[in-house]
Amino acid sequence: MKIESLRRLRGPNVYLSRPAVVARLRLDDLAGVETTDCTGFTERLLRAVPGLAEHHCAAGSPGGFISRLRNGTYFGHVSEHVCIELSQLIGRDVSFGRTVGTSETGVYDVIMECPIDESPESSVPRELLTAAIDLVREVHGGAGPTARALEERLAGLAALAEREATGPSTRSIIVAARRRGIPVERFDDLSLLRLGWGHRRRLAWAAMTDRTSAVGVDIAGDKHVTRRLLDEAGIPVAAGGAAETAADAVRLLDELGAPVVVKPRHGRQGRDVALHLTTADEVSRAVDAVGGEAVVERQLDGRDYRVLVVAGEVVAAAERVAPHVTGDGRATVAELVERVNADPRRGPGHSRVLTRIDLDETTDRVLSRQGRTRESVPETGETVRLRETANLSTGGTSRDVTDQVHPDVTRLCQRVAALIGLDIAGIDLRLPDIAAALPPCDGPATSGVIEVNAVPGLRMHLAPVHGRPRDVGDAIVRAMFPGGSDGRIPAVAITGTNGKTTVARLIAHLLSGSGMRAGMTSTDGVVIDGRTIQVADATGPRSAQMVLGDPQVEVAVLETARGGLLRRGLGYDWTDVGVITNITADHLGQDGLDSIEDLAHVKAVVAERVRDGGTLVLNVDDPWVRSLADRPRVRADRKRLVWFGMDPANPVLTEHLARGGAAYVLHDGWLVQATGARRTPLLRLAEVPGAYGGAALHVAANALAAIAAARALGARPEHLVDRLAEFDPSVENPGRGTLFRLGDVSVFVDYAHNPAALAATLRTLHRLWGAERCVAAVTLPGDRRDDLLAASAQILADGLTRVVLYEDHDSRGRAPGEVSGLVEREMRARRPQLTAIRADGYRDAVTAALRMAGPGEVVLVIYEKWAPMRSWLAELGVTPAGGTPV
Ligand code: ATP
Ligand code: MG
Ligand code: MG
Repeated sequence: MKIESLRRLRGPNVYLSRPAVVARLRLDDLAGVETTDCTGFTERLLRAVPGLAEHHCAAGSPGGFISRLRNGTYFGHVSEHVCIELSQLIGRDVSFGRTVGTSETGVYDVIMECPIDESPESSVPRELLTAAIDLVREVHGGAGPTARALEERLAGLAALAEREATGPSTRSIIVAARRRGIPVERFDDLSLLRLGWGHRRRLAWAAMTDRTSAVGVDIAGDKHVTRRLLDEAGIPVAAGGAAETAADAVRLLDELGAPVVVKPRHGRQGRDVALHLTTADEVSRAVDAVGGEAVVERQLDGRDYRVLVVAGEVVAAAERVAPHVTGDGRATVAELVERVNADPRRGPGHSRVLTRIDLDETTDRVLSRQGRTRESVPETGETVRLRETANLSTGGTSRDVTDQVHPDVTRLCQRVAALIGLDIAGIDLRLPDIAAALPPCDGPATSGVIEVNAVPGLRMHLAPVHGRPRDVGDAIVRAMFPGGSDGRIPAVAITGTNGKTTVARLIAHLLSGSGMRAGMTSTDGVVIDGRTIQVADATGPRSAQMVLGDPQVEVAVLETARGGLLRRGLGYDWTDVGVITNITADHLGQDGLDSIEDLAHVKAVVAERVRDGGTLVLNVDDPWVRSLADRPRVRADRKRLVWFGMDPANPVLTEHLARGGAAYVLHDGWLVQATGARRTPLLRLAEVPGAYGGAALHVAANALAAIAAARALGARPEHLVDRLAEFDPSVENPGRGTLFRLGDVSVFVDYAHNPAALAATLRTLHRLWGAERCVAAVTLPGDRRDDLLAASAQILADGLTRVVLYEDHDSRGRAPGEVSGLVEREMRARRPQLTAIRADGYRDAVTAALRMAGPGEVVLVIYEKWAPMRSWLAELGVTPAGGTPV
């Protein structure tokens, strides 16, 4: 049994509304073997992993999985459950898992939920599954791992997860944003967060935002400049100066009077800070230890406080207590430290709410000043200081004092943050008591501000050792998104078998007419405010993220195709509007989809992910699309349903309207907006751009869907119709029903690549030219299943008597000639009198088809790649016909 591949579904997907991984497992020697084939397997497994007894499985209640084990289940399924259990054992909070068969025997897909803020690049899921497989194998082959071996493995996995996880400060921002409905994306495994979408998007990097002043950060990073700046503004600070040499420092000591403090001018986190210095010798040594620019300051009196100011408000305050231990009359200092470090809240660096205390030269020095060593045994109840600095990063603890802060101190800290120019500032103070009024400011300060921290750590407020935790993550998010904004921009997703790109382009066109800057994804690329920024099949989650993450974008129009959704999940959690154009046979047999029902199941995700109160734009003429409206998650969510369709007599439509519903329909030769009994004519069918006077009914359907979506997104009705009439399909949607001309022959170029699209296109040609006057040059995609190609061939045979068949140079996994052979066979079987010739590539095919056509006839050109086809047509002297058939 091994992992053959593993992919991450970044957002909501066909299995789950949260991120997940899909691992393909090849069972090899365990294929076809069940748990019951292996005597004692269940008992041994439960002994190794007792938590499995609580697993539900399909039975829906605890113990459900055990009965599956006892009644016989396959080992892929077992590995899934063990993996979920191991996840939980390392504190990774996930519960959803499912194992499904694939088209190959002995190969299964294991789908497992991932924590929402786990990096999409994380290696944790793979490592966990590997451990689960190893464990299952061991239990299958013998006694299974010893408790100790399993513990070690879990410790390794936990350490890996912890290394990749966000620290508590970043997590608090993520959690707060999610609670407020603000979309959050974590960049790689960094603390860099993208909150919100489009022009509302903000960035946060730990406790720094995209509006944090760089000058403020630089000032705060220079203790000397900070002190001088605050001093000039009348803020109480320790008197002091900058020192580059020991001699400078000694001079300052004389000037200031003992005791003094020496610290690095640009230091952080209490590193190389020396307190209580009284002699020239001590000061010189401290400056040497800094090894560069230092500052020397009068030592202020009092307790250490940290006040957090966010957007001009004091949101939390903590007293910080330097690391210390309390004796019990028996244990040594070193043993006491070990005891303190055993607290699970303590971890290395900033990964947990507290940091471990390290014994080093500094602690030895502090101990020796108290006449002790690591081996001394303090009396019961006696406190031994380990460091003088109270920084959390060196093992300090905190006590929340937010409610005690005296208004004087509040005002002082607000001024300090404003003077330095920081939106988020951690202000360190030394004061006798934060609850007391500040003494009048005359003469050298004995207490006051020690320093200002840009990007302050939040742990001491989030999880103080004493006192109430403060949700400072929420304070930061609130400041970034004032007025309760959820940071979203209007977004629409478009899916369906045909017409997605066309509808997406129409919507973007209509919205830009309302003055909204649209960002759009489609099979042809990513377009932002009318400019193509990437040419690619951009219908997957990464492209959606590209648009949603662009600060220029005011409204997002996202073509969302089956492939990306299946393989990578959605690139967003919710949209305001979802459009489903139609659901017909295509791509069957790919990615595990075998029936139209399966296709509908995938496309339903787009409908289900329309937010409460959002709008679903559905094709009422399509039975599979209609069926989506009945799905529990579509109906229950209270979405507004807007139908579009070409048949005003459709009973589903008339009933919907009778109940006062809204729809966009074709009625008496007009596109109309229908609400209840009211009908508002919008545009004559004959005037719909690209619909050839109404001959291309599918284009009119696309236009109705686009109008419905644009209206739901807030496009203003007054300009909508004019704006629609301005759409020039030959420029804005080229190659999809685009008409050209060569002398007295029409050339109709289209991108149909499945039975429904071919049928729609041929219907259009028949209406315009009549069935007898059509010639076609056709290619079909080689990655489609034989029966789909055959269905397309039959449509072609029904609509054409003369055809040139050719293949794209990318045969998508087929042997050369295979697809055209199949298509020709099927066509001939359907229409024995068919004139069919085969051509080598698109150039020959078009040339041959043009030669076949007589005056007044039309050549239908179906292509695979638009750019080379366009060039070739130009080379042949084919010119745009401006929508008028010959
Ligand atoms: P893809 O799956 O390649 O992304 P798509 O869904 O984006 O395709 P379009 O590129 O808009 O669809 O159109 C492709 C072809 O589908 C058109 O050239 C036309 O033949 C056909 N088509 C477009 N709209 C419809 C429709 N509403 N009904 C049937 N066929 C359509
Ligand atoms: Mg397609
Ligand atoms: Mg497309």
